Amino acid sequence: MAPQAGESMRKKLALGNWKMNGETEANARLLNVLRDNEPISDDAIVGVCVPYLYVGHTRDALRGSCVKWGVQDVSAQSEGAYTGEISARMASDFDVSFALVGHSERRTYHGESDVIVASKVLRCIESNITPVICVGETLVERESGNANTVIGQQLSVALSKLSDDQAQNVVVAYEPVWAIGTGRSASPDQVQATHSFLRQALAARSETLKNVAILYGGSVKATSASELFHQPDVDGGLIGSASLDARQFIDIIDALR
Ligand code: PEP
Repeated sequence: MAPQAGESMRKKLALGNWKMNGETEANARLLNVLRDNEPISDDAIVGVCVPYLYVGHTRDALRGSCVKWGVQDVSAQSEGAYTGEISARMASDFDVSFALVGHSERRTYHGESDVIVASKVLRCIESNITPVICVGETLVERESGNANTVIGQQLSVALSKLSDDQAQNVVVAYEPVWAIGTGRSASPDQVQATHSFLRQALAARSETLKNVAILYGGSVKATSASELFHQPDVDGGLIGSASLDARQFIDIIDALR
């Protein structure tokens, strides 16, 4: 259905998550290939979420290209005595477009609760950074039939500090914990069913959220991307290990078209 006047279109996105990988020379090579190949169509947004230390370098390498850059986390606090933390405002000082928030590796290894995730989401919105809210169930939760309850709760708490107007500016990434870094992607049917549930949950919070982009992440490869991205409620992908291989990442981006 064509969007009505004043209604936003759903965006398509492919975002790379480098995690704790890379160093100056290898990053420069990867970014140059992305930049030189301009792997972008008019209606798709492409970005890379890099380790903090390389954000300035990434900005310098990508400035003037269509590829955007982001970070993998932000502090739940605005500023102050929080040694080792990086605020959303600092990230925005480096023209960051995206920040991953609530990635399962943060939830698992750093004990991030849904309430902390909600503060981080708010900090991003206050600094004009798009928070990419990661939600996903463990294998035990899926096998016990609780996947939708878990991700529904993660999503609703993550949005709980935002007005409906602010919440329109988030991106959601469905990343089943059992599919991240395991080589075992969720099937296209599983992904579509969960994305449809998430879209209904967004629309139940407010009709204005029905066009929020929902990405799938979890062992996406060039060979699986097209089928996953062509599910009706999938707006693109959050890509981990495959985004470290420029050729493969470009092929995945091409699958968005
Ligand atoms: C991720 O960490 O966000 C991710 C999707 O990783 P991978 O693609 O390697 O499973």
